[in-house]
Amino acid sequence: MKLQGRRDIEVLTGFKGRDDLVTSFYLDTDKSRLSKKEIQVSLKNLLAAARLNVEAMDAGRDKKESLFRDLDLVAAHVLQSLAAFNAPGLAVFSCSRRGFWLPLELPHGPRNRTVFDSTFYVRPLAAIADRFSRICVLLLSRREARWYEVVMDGIKPLDSLTSDVPAKIKEGGFEGTEGKRIERHLDARLHEHFKKIAGTTFDLFKKHNYDWLLLGCEDNHHPDVESHLHTYLKDRVKGRMKSRVTDPPAKVLKEALEVEARVKKAEEGDTVQRLTAELERGGRACSGLRDTLHRLNQFEVQSLVVTHNFSKQGRLCPTHRFLYVDELQCPVCQKKTEILLDVIDEAIETAFKHRCAVKQIDPPSRLDRYGHIGAFLKYKA
Ligand SMILES: [Zn+2]
Repeated sequence: MKLQGRRDIEVLTGFKGRDDLVTSFYLDTDKSRLSKKEIQVSLKNLLAAARLNVEAMDAGRDKKESLFRDLDLVAAHVLQSLAAFNAPGLAVFSCSRRGFWLPLELPHGPRNRTVFDSTFYVRPLAAIADRFSRICVLLLSRREARWYEVVMDGIKPLDSLTSDVPAKIKEGGFEGTEGKRIERHLDARLHEHFKKIAGTTFDLFKKHNYDWLLLGCEDNHHPDVESHLHTYLKDRVKGRMKSRVTDPPAKVLKEALEVEARVKKAEEGDTVQRLTAELERGGRACSGLRDTLHRLNQFEVQSLVVTHNFSKQGRLCPTHRFLYVDELQCPVCQKKTEILLDVIDEAIETAFKHRCAVKQIDPPSRLDRYGHIGAFLKYKA
């Protein structure tokens, strides 16, 4: 099953394992970056490490048995489906003892990991869902309009309308007063058509809460159409589409995803550009893991910028929840720190808790040269 968005996340967070432990498994299966062999090796290593973890766990036999069974099911599922699997990511959520099983195809490769806990680990799903905007596509001609919803990597028709606007009659316009009258009449009909379209679009946005509007129309009507849109919508027009009202949904989806990827890439480039400029002029920014964690611990971070899937071991003060690269003792309370398998993941979680924005950047980018992580700060560093 494909990850649909927030709904799947709610199903998972709503699952109560009661006393049981549950398994959350994530595998990067992006065949555009990884060979099948590499994916198989990661799978093998991941499962071997997970089994060791279960063995070392201080838990009852029943609980451990259930986790071992989860891992067997995951292994069988991945080995069986990998050959035909085309999604860039896979997640499996399992609780054998309670008969819960949910494999999900992800539209973006996650970090490889297995997590055992009393609840499902859904943060990577939330991060992936955040990468995709909720998009409304509006395609129109002089007489027709069609609306689609594009969410994650699926498309769904929303609405359509046909107006009774006469076709343009002849090149070169009309002559005489009669001609002028017809032209004005045409303009009025077209104006009505655009007005209706703008109204429906606004209603759809209110109802479904879309982030972006992508617009495709003929005859260079763009300025006309946009001038009819509510200001709220004008700000959400993120791009123009070449697709036409008569195009099949599959074609519309393909183009919408291309536009989305292009816009996101440009936004990411802009974020990295602003960050490095701020760093170079010694402004309100920091970079590198050590400094960024320090700033985060001090509540100085305004927004965190991190290379997607960047992962590093680190340490955590159990009292303060402060994050460190390698401090064995918390410098604040002198307590022994705990090992974190992935301090980046905790940093992202901490940033969310502090209500900071988190911007994930697809590699390669200039952020790689700054230690894959940085932040805009509230105050000057
Ligand atoms: Zn401490």
